Formats: sequence, C-alpha cells, structure tokens
Amino acid sequence: MRARRVAVLILAASALLAGGCGDRPATPRPGGGGDYTEPPLPANAVVAQPKSAPAPEAEPQCGNPTASLRPAGGDRGPNVDAVRARGRLLVGLDPGSNLFSFRDPISGTLAGFDVDIATEIARDLFGDPRRIEYRILGSADRERALQDRTVDVVVKTMTITCDRRRQVDFSTAYLMSHQRVLAVKGSGITGMADLAGKRVCAVGGTTSLDRIRHIQPAASIMTVPTWADCLVVLQQRQVDAVSTDDALLAGLAAQDPYAEVVGADLSDEPYGVGVPKGNDDMVRFVNATLQRLRTDGTWDRLYQHWLAPALGPAAGPPEPTYRD
Ligand code: GLU
Repeated sequence: MRARRVAVLILAASALLAGGCGDRPATPRPGGGGDYTEPPLPANAVVAQPKSAPAPEAEPQCGNPTASLRPAGGDRGPNVDAVRARGRLLVGLDPGSNLFSFRDPISGTLAGFDVDIATEIARDLFGDPRRIEYRILGSADRERALQDRTVDVVVKTMTITCDRRRQVDFSTAYLMSHQRVLAVKGSGITGMADLAGKRVCAVGGTTSLDRIRHIQPAASIMTVPTWADCLVVLQQRQVDAVSTDDALLAGLAAQDPYAEVVGADLSDEPYGVGVPKGNDDMVRFVNATLQRLRTDGTWDRLYQHWLAPALGPAAGPPEPTYRD
C-alpha cells in the first residue's frame, strides 16, 4: 500500500519535471511583467503604508541628552569589577554595517570603527584588546539587550536621545553623524522632499525611521532587519531610496558605484556607547577610554582609517559634555 503511494508520487513528480523542460512556455508569475520575475525580499521585510509620526524632537525632554558622567572614579565599581572577574566584555553590535561593524572579507572577523571603539574599552579593562565576546543585535534590540543585561555595552551607531535615556545610559558622544538620503545616481531624487509617493527603506527601531515618517509622511516605507538589507532592496529596485545616518549611508555607497548620498542634513545623530541604566561605574569607565582616544591620537587614527575615505575629513572628535 505504502509502496504504491510512493510510486504514484514519483510518477507525479516526473510528470511535473517533464512539463518544466521546455515543452510549454513558462507561465509568467503574477506581478512579474513580461519575462521578468520579482526578486525575493529579504527575510522579515515589511512594507508599511504611508503614515505620519510626531516630530522626534517632540519626545520627552531631558536637557542635553549627550551630557554624561565624568570619567573620574570609574576604574573600580561593582559592574566594572564583575566584567573584569568574568574576563570578557560582552559587546552588542551588528555585522551588517559596513565601516562600523562588518565581516572583514579576507579574515571573516568583525572589523570597523565601532568594533575598534569596543576593542579600546577592552584594552583599558584587561590590558588585552581581544577579551571581547560579541552579541549580534539588530537596531531594534539594543535597548532590550542592555535592560536584560545580555550585554555590558552596545557599540552600534546608537544615537543618544532623551527617549532612549529613559531606558538606558550612555557614554559621551564619540561620533556625530546626520541623517540623509541614499538614492540611485540619475534617479532624479535629490533629497527627502522628492520621496513623496516613493518607497523608502529603513531599519525598524531607529531614529531614522521615526524621522522619515515625520518629515515625509507621503512615502511608503519598507522596514528590513539591517542596513545591508536596505542596499539589497535598493539594488533590486524594490525601493527608491534609503534614509539613515550619513555615516552608515557612506558605508553602503562605498559598496555600490551606482548609489549616492544626496540632500541636506536632516538631523544631528550623536553616537554614544549604550550602558545598562544605573551602571554608573561602567559609564565613567567608558568615558575615560573615550577621553583617552580623543587625546592620544587614537580617535583621529580610527577616523582616518575607517571613515575619512567615505565621509571626508573630520574637524575632530565631538567634545564631551558632562552633567556632574
Ligand atoms: N543612529 C540611528 C539609531 O541609533 C540608526 C543606526 C542603526 O540603526 O544602527 O537609531
């Protein structure tokens, strides 16, 4: 009985295969015009209808969100001691941000500006920059990972905002970027104003997504898990543009000679190292490392190496501001 059922299945399968061997013209897939077929979307891509959002500036105010704690006294403390006792710093980041945290094509190891910032924190903690365990996080996972203590720090192009400061703490700012637009050269798109009625890609859980919704509510938005996915859907012409920080867009443009960053700066995006709320000793410790990088030439060297070729020269690292 079982053998007969299997034989019938094999017959049916070979009939299907024979049918696919050029006997009949392939039926065009619905939605795919002519002989073309639609490329698949990245996993977990979601297309949202146009909708507006409140101004990100209308978020709860906290004075200057980048004001952090002074480095002094951060070398010891319960959280810093616990990390030293563990012997490894747990760092949250993502491997899909070219220039910041991405897989080196030759070695396969994580590399980039954010990876090097994390490495310098480990150097100061342990005297050994390799004592790091990475935890791969999407943009939308950053606050939760800190709240759950899955990571000791997040170093992932994370903008310091008042809204986030209610959930997590931040170091001083270690890089200033600005939201802009990435489009295909010759597309006629010159900035956010041209995106009414167009499709724009962004990653969920980001300041970039909130700002597109606020500035250009007439755009339809595709959200994907990583910024690298946004480059893929732009290349597949499933969106017309991508919008996020210029530093991240420069990393995408560096991978595609047909893409260009256009339009005015739409925001200030000061990047900080995320730290679990209440871990003041760790905030001070990280701020001591960042202050060393600003003054001993390391910051300039890292900027020069990773970002200057794509972003142009920098005036220097952002000046730290403190609230204590
Ligand atoms: N700076 C933006 C943010 O923190 C986007 C960066 C990212 O998604 O990694 O939301």
